[in-house]
Amino acid sequence: EIDGLSQLEKLQVLGQGNGGTVFKVRHKQTLALYALKVMQCDRGTPPNPQELNILRQTNSPYIVKCHQIFTKPSGEVSILMEYMDAGSLEIYVKSRGRLSEDIICTISRQVLKGLFYMHSRNIVHRDIKPANLLINEKMEVKIADFGISKIIQQCLERCSTPVGTRAYMSPERLDTGKHGGYNGFAADIWSFGVTMMELYMGYYPFLEPGQEPDFPSLMLAICFREPPSLPECSSEKFRDFIRCCLQKGDPSKRWTASQLLSHPFLADA
Ligand code: ATP
Ligand code: MG
Repeated sequence: EIDGLSQLEKLQVLGQGNGGTVFKVRHKQTLALYALKVMQCDRGTPPNPQELNILRQTNSPYIVKCHQIFTKPSGEVSILMEYMDAGSLEIYVKSRGRLSEDIICTISRQVLKGLFYMHSRNIVHRDIKPANLLINEKMEVKIADFGISKIIQQCLERCSTPVGTRAYMSPERLDTGKHGGYNGFAADIWSFGVTMMELYMGYYPFLEPGQEPDFPSLMLAICFREPPSLPECSSEKFRDFIRCCLQKGDPSKRWTASQLLSHPFLADA
């Protein structure tokens, strides 16, 4: 239906990431609201059409819907997405404080259903974190940027910036020298576990609150220390749930999305 950027009116900037800028836009004809992510890719390295198709064909209530993709000869790529009117969980926690176990249970179920949907289609996210979990006023939580990290990586191939936010990367991914290849599905589960822990604690759990997230500190905390555990005030089921996500050493011991969906923390609630 929407076949040109000229049909859209930019209303405001919703946020900025490594990959580009996200705008709130309105379709002039229908007044429908959308989010538009605008990225600048290198000239001559257009995004892979197959990847773009995967993005367009994804259809799950737990994944932010991607409606349309526009590319310009200059290398600018714009992705028209479903607008999530309550923003990201990162912003939500920053403004309203940490989340209760009950709410994390509800959120985890939705995020894991989204991960299960994509993982069963052999697609990994690679950048699960609070900023990529979006909510709307119906309290639906959806995963943003699925499939996009791969597109960005292709676009930015010349730069050395690794795709994915280091703080949420699994030990085997940070410490590539030691582990070589890594299992992207298990790595997503690690990032999911860190994210749920952060939403509960109110701060990134691997560092002291306020500590600089520089590379040496992160390496030390993620690769060489025991994974952090939840405080005593949390329930035993919740603590075990997080332990299942943060299995170190052998990533194949980490639970899968479908296993976690039947973990007592979610199944008994
Ligand atoms: P990264 O570049 O590592 O993905 P990021 O997720 O913060 O980091 P963007 O994906 O560019 O960067 O998104 C920037 C911000 O825009 C997000 O943090 C979120 O607050 C907001 N945002 C993104 N997509 C939407 C959307 N569909 N609806 C509403 N807000 C959105
Ligand atoms: Mg994002």
